[in-house]
Amino acid sequence: MGAFNRVARPMILAASRSEMLRHNAERFPLTRSVVQRFVPGEGVDDAMAAARMLRDSGRLVSIDHLGEDVTDAGAADATVKAYLQLLDALGGRAEDRQATVRPLEVSLKLSALGQALARDGEKIALENAHLICERAQQVGAWVTVDAEDHTTTDSTLSIVRQLRVEFGWLGTVLQAYLKRTETDCAEFARDGARIRLCKGAYDEPASVAYRDPAAVTDSYLRCLRVLMAGTGYPMVASHDPVVIAAAGELAREYTRATDEFEYQMLYGIRDGEQRRLADEGNHVRVYVPVGTQWYGYFVRRLAERPANLMFFLRALAQRN
Ligand SMILES: Cc1cc2nc3c(=O)[nH]c(=O)nc-3n(C[C@H](O)[C@H](O)[C@H](O)COP(=O)(O)OP(=O)(O)OC[C@H]3O[C@@H](n4cnc5c(N)ncnc54)[C@H](O)[C@@H]3O)c2cc1C
Repeated sequence: MGAFNRVARPMILAASRSEMLRHNAERFPLTRSVVQRFVPGEGVDDAMAAARMLRDSGRLVSIDHLGEDVTDAGAADATVKAYLQLLDALGGRAEDRQATVRPLEVSLKLSALGQALARDGEKIALENAHLICERAQQVGAWVTVDAEDHTTTDSTLSIVRQLRVEFGWLGTVLQAYLKRTETDCAEFARDGARIRLCKGAYDEPASVAYRDPAAVTDSYLRCLRVLMAGTGYPMVASHDPVVIAAAGELAREYTRATDEFEYQMLYGIRDGEQRRLADEGNHVRVYVPVGTQWYGYFVRRLAERPANLMFFLRALAQRN
């Protein structure tokens, strides 16, 4: 595992940023069928089928329309359109719109809404995210803003703060591997925000991030305590048994009821554990990525675990 983290992980994460590999992989049908373990499909119908299956088994849902790093305003507009369609479809489901914990949610990346555009990127992303939040409000869904690489964190949190003035239910992701995150957790926990805490999926420099897996877990546990002690709604996004056990203990320590925090995991990962937690009466939300631009998301999953990489290589070998 040490060599995997030191050598393979940075290499795989570098590949996740390669335009050429992305272009080829997304058009390669053999890869596509392997990808389905983590990405259930490409369109709104696939998203709705996954949502139905998860809701029927007592789990909550967050759907991510895959895409990141758009390079022109037209592509950002297309992302907004896709989210509005998705929200209209989610709104068509008979769900309790007044529920304190909204069962349906979309997750979005501000880089897919134009954040990195050279001219007015931040303003464009803010306006686009505003359109999506308005529609989510109408259909009774939540929105959570994903966290991307550390160069975007200040801009992302600034956009989230502005949106939360109008949409107090808007959530965002904080990454425990970043050294700044304990402070960010304190701010958002004080303001009563919904915060999805994850370890972090990008290859970040030691100047800003903990790189040793044990240090990342320690930071996660410190941040989670801050969130559980605060007035917001912690969303415990991890597959790690250490984190999951600690979340239950911290919830008891801070006398949080089951509807005052939730567990979150990714589609296709630890499905049995997701069901076990839900069967015990916990809120468990599953992050479901859908769309054609699955390459970056998929490669980050390969970089997380030798077993994921082996699964992929074995499947390719069997098919060739
Ligand atoms: C809902 C959700 C949203 C996310 N959003 C973001 C985001 O916006 N930005 C971002 O940077 N990252 C995001 N991530 C990814 C996250 O940062 C981590 O990269 C990813 O979750 C892996 O970390 P982990 O905490 O699950 O544990 P890891 O450190 O990957 O795994 C720890 C342990 O968990 C167990 N485990 C993990 N996978 C499996 C498996 N398949 N089967 C059995 N056991 C397993 C093993 O015991 C393993 O040793 C998100 C994750 C989730 C769940």
